[in-house]
Amino acid sequence: MTGQLFISLLNPGIGLAFAAAFFLMWLQRRERYIAYAAGAYLATAIAFLFQDVAPVMPMELQRLPANIGFLATGALFAAAIIGRYGLPIPWRAMAVVAALSTAVFTWFLLGQPSIPARIYAISVGAGVIALMVVRALWPIERPYLIDRVLFWVAALSAANLLFRPIVILSVSGGVDNYVGFQQSLYWTTVQFSQAMVSIVSAISLMVAVAIDMVAELRAEADGDPLSGLLNRRGFEAKAGAALRRCADAGQPAALLIADLDRFKSVNDTHGHAVGDAIIAAFGAHVRAVGPAEMVAGRIGGEEFALLLPGFAIDGARQLAERVRTGLHTACADRIPASLRPTTSIGLAVGAPGTALSALLRDADQALYEAKRAGRDRVHAFRPAPIRLGATA
Ligand code: GH3
Ligand code: MG
Ligand code: MG
Repeated sequence: MTGQLFISLLNPGIGLAFAAAFFLMWLQRRERYIAYAAGAYLATAIAFLFQDVAPVMPMELQRLPANIGFLATGALFAAAIIGRYGLPIPWRAMAVVAALSTAVFTWFLLGQPSIPARIYAISVGAGVIALMVVRALWPIERPYLIDRVLFWVAALSAANLLFRPIVILSVSGGVDNYVGFQQSLYWTTVQFSQAMVSIVSAISLMVAVAIDMVAELRAEADGDPLSGLLNRRGFEAKAGAALRRCADAGQPAALLIADLDRFKSVNDTHGHAVGDAIIAAFGAHVRAVGPAEMVAGRIGGEEFALLLPGFAIDGARQLAERVRTGLHTACADRIPASLRPTTSIGLAVGAPGTALSALLRDADQALYEAKRAGRDRVHAFRPAPIRLGATA
């Protein structure tokens, strides 16, 4: 055996390594699309072993499982990418294409043997399956770089599969028999480009899995499960970023701080579960009435902050009143009929460039005044009058 054996082991080796890696990832995250990726790499390893390493069977029959393996690789990898987006996987269409492609392949293997025709049969089949990924991902938004990478991996795989045989066979003048096939320009190109596509696809999909995990952990770390809003940490991060965007756009921003009134006695009288139900209802209510650009978080036990980018005093006051007056209705079906929860709200408006800490301080001051004035009301921050003649 020559060095060709090692080249032949390249794709099975890569396939098995990535199959194992995806399998381990799947053990951590039982997501079906990760299992499809593991299956795709296992299929590719088996297919290349049949093609390049397995003993030759009568009538070249080992080529049949090899090429079914290639088609299975394409279909499973397509399922992995499409599945990552939660889109319906076109199993039936892929099965039809794979069956047709296998039938044509078998005809040109047993009926009227022709290597170029077999190459076209399998490449076109796998190329059409790759095009199904392109078609599935075409209409969706691709907000992140990794989404564009996955799209282009599918598009380039389709192009590679559909055009490579035409180009290579016309350049190399075709393949009449298997003598020297393993060393042919065509097969060397397949081995090389398949190894590259395998590696690039696996890395892209692994990066996608990692990005999804980070996004999930971040949502968990920044969110408050009870209210469905952000927690303090998440609020500070997102509100800070929103304020910077306001500063860049020369827009003002408003901040509301809402604190549920006499909540300790609500808990004492009706129990902690009722208190929790009110917090949950408050979160849902705020999300329902707030604008899309609002950043809302539970920043304390029964205290909430709502940042309203682009809002001036009138709009902010209107929203605060809607939050306040709608609270009882929002909770009504979850709490005892005798209970009427209320909230006090402090509001502050900042010119473009105002820091979050300044808005929080002013809104908190206004909240304190709303509490002192009797609760269940909205107070806007008013700066203390500057005494003429006072020096700083
Ligand atoms: P005020 O009108 O002045 O705000 O009176 P208050 O009783 O609401 O204020 P205080 O700060 O004295 O008490 C807040 C209470 O909120 C204490 C605590 O029992 C309750 N609380 C804080 N977090 C939670 C929570 O997650 N669930 C429930 N059920 N209660 C909470
Ligand atoms: Mg309170
Ligand atoms: Mg409080």
